Amino acid sequence: MGGAAYDAPVDDRAAAESLIAAGRRLGARGLISAGEGNLSVRLDTDRLLMTPTGLRKDELGFDDLVVVWPDHPDREARSSSGHGPSSDLAIHLAVHAMRPEIGAVAHAHLPASMSLTLAGEIPDPGALPETAFHLPRLPFLAFGEMGSQELAERIAAALAIPPDGAGPAAAAVLLERHGAVAVGRDPAHAVNRLELVEVLCRTWRDALLIRAARAAVGIVDAPMTPGPSEGR
Ligand SMILES: [Zn+2]
Repeated sequence: MGGAAYDAPVDDRAAAESLIAAGRRLGARGLISAGEGNLSVRLDTDRLLMTPTGLRKDELGFDDLVVVWPDHPDREARSSSGHGPSSDLAIHLAVHAMRPEIGAVAHAHLPASMSLTLAGEIPDPGALPETAFHLPRLPFLAFGEMGSQELAERIAAALAIPPDGAGPAAAAVLLERHGAVAVGRDPAHAVNRLELVEVLCRTWRDALLIRAARAAVGIVDAPMTPGPSEGR
């Protein structure tokens, strides 16, 4: 189930600039390494602009971006510099189809989120005021094969708008050992949400480590539970 169709086409050049800036910000914050991560922005009802496969997302130029027509999956999409779309294209197609009202999708292998979920820990966004407010729902998805349609469909389903009265739609999902996917009105908004996921995971991890250190010297803490901001 999706929201209203996207109705705010943006200038292609401005969209490309926003995608390039968002990739740089992911790099500047240490949220992507090597060729990791991918971003897409909706240009209009027919076209998406996507980051390419095989290049650093914090060093992209205009010629590296790929226009994709979701309704024409066989149409070859290639940047003017010769690169195909991200290997996570299926995630972007599925999420834009599920949430046609959103403008952008961002995915990154957030380091702290990967260490936490590798250790089997799932953070509660209600634990921090900022994430309780901006990401009150943060679904966790068990590991799926990277680039697979199966994973793409589970991510899109987790970001679906719930039936009336069932609360807000999730704006981000946490992936087991694979970072997170976030949506937003534009690439900067989606990246802001990825940053919040990472801050939550980093804080949760640090709190666990501090508690483990305290336990090692015999101090027993109460279980980690969200504070009064829960459910905000
Ligand atoms: Zn990935």
